Amino acid sequence: KVILGIETSCDETAVALVEDGKHVLKSLISSQIDLHRKFGGVVPEIASRKHLEVIFPLLEELFSDFPKEKIAAVAVTYGPGLVGALLVGLSVAKSLSYALNIPLIGVNHMEGHIFANFLEDPNPVFPALVLVVSGGHTDLIFMRGFGDYELLGETIDDAAGECFDKVGRVLNLPYPAGPIIDRLSSKGKPLYKFPVARLKEGSYNFSFSGLKTAVRIFCEKNPQARAEDIAASFQEALVKALVEKTVKALKNYQPAKIYLAGGVAANSKLREEFLNLGKAFKVPVHFPSLQYCTDNAAMIAAAGYHRYLLGKYAPLNLNAYPSLMLGEEKY
Ligand code: ATP
Ligand code: MG
Ligand code: FE
Repeated sequence: KVILGIETSCDETAVALVEDGKHVLKSLISSQIDLHRKFGGVVPEIASRKHLEVIFPLLEELFSDFPKEKIAAVAVTYGPGLVGALLVGLSVAKSLSYALNIPLIGVNHMEGHIFANFLEDPNPVFPALVLVVSGGHTDLIFMRGFGDYELLGETIDDAAGECFDKVGRVLNLPYPAGPIIDRLSSKGKPLYKFPVARLKEGSYNFSFSGLKTAVRIFCEKNPQARAEDIAASFQEALVKALVEKTVKALKNYQPAKIYLAGGVAANSKLREEFLNLGKAFKVPVHFPSLQYCTDNAAMIAAAGYHRYLLGKYAPLNLNAYPSLMLGEEKY
C-alpha cells in the first residue's frame, strides 16, 4: 500500500510516497530556510504563504511518474507546529482525500520523527528507549510498541536544536546553526568546560538555557578563543547532558533497543556517543539516515501507514493542533 505523506508544520514543505511504511518511492522537500535566515528564525506568516506557493508544484512533481489513483491514503501532519503552516498541508490533504476518495490520516509530527527510524530499521524491537531531539523538542521516551509512548523526561526550557541555533547566533553563524557547529567542532578541541545542568535527583528532564548563557558569557570574556574550540566544547557539554539522562534510563528501564530521532539526531558527536552507549550496555542502537533526521514527509507517511493499518481515519473537518502531545489523539 502506498501512502502519500504531507508535512508543513514548520519551514519545510515536504511530500513523499512510501510503500508499506518502509520503501520510500519518492521524497521531496522544499526548504524555506533562506527566506527566514535574515530574521534568525522562522517567521510564521512567511512560512504559511511559502507553503501555499510551493506545495502544488511539489505535488505535481511527485505525481509526474506515479499515478495518484494508486495511493491508498493521505497522511498529513496535524500538530504540533505553527497553526497557519499546518493548515496549508491539512487543507491540501483533505482535498486529495475527498477528490480521490481515500482515507485521510492525521499524524503527530513527533511520532513522524520517531517513525523515521522504521523507514530503514529492518528489525524494530520493543520496549525501546527513544531520545527525540529537534528544533522544538527534547523528549526521552519509553516506547512499548508502535503508538505506545511514555514520556520520561523533557526539557524545562530550550530544546536541544534551539540551543544549537542560539549558540550559533552568539558565534555569528547563520540559522540553522546545528549542522555548522557540528562541522566546526570536528576542527576544534573541547578545551573549555561548560556547565551541564543537573536537575533534581531522579528527574529525566533537561535544561539547556544555562549552557547557552554560559557560552555567551564565555565569548564576551574571551574574544580570542577560536570558534572551532568553543563549538567543540559546547557540543561536548550538550551531548553529555543528553547521554547522562539516557544512561540513567537505560539502567532503570532496560530497553531492548535505543533510537534517536529529530534534527539533532543528525549530530555526529551524538551519534558516536549513542553507538558507544549501545556497546557499553549491549543494546542495539538505531538512528535515521541523515536525510530523514530533519523534517521530511517520508517519516509522516511511515507513521501514517501504521495508523492506516489500525483504521485511524480522520474526518474531513480535522483541525490543526499547534501543541499536540505525543500519544494524544484528537480524532
Ligand atoms: P520540531 O520537530 O520539534 O517541531 P523542527 O521540526 O523545527 O522542530 P527538526 O527539523 O527536527 O526541528 O530539526 C531542526 C533542528 O536540528 C535545528 O535546530 C538544527 O539546528 C538542528 N540540527 C540539524 N542538523 C544538526 C546537526 N548535525 N547537529 C546539531 N543540530 C542539528
Ligand atoms: Mg525545519
Ligand atoms: Fe521536526
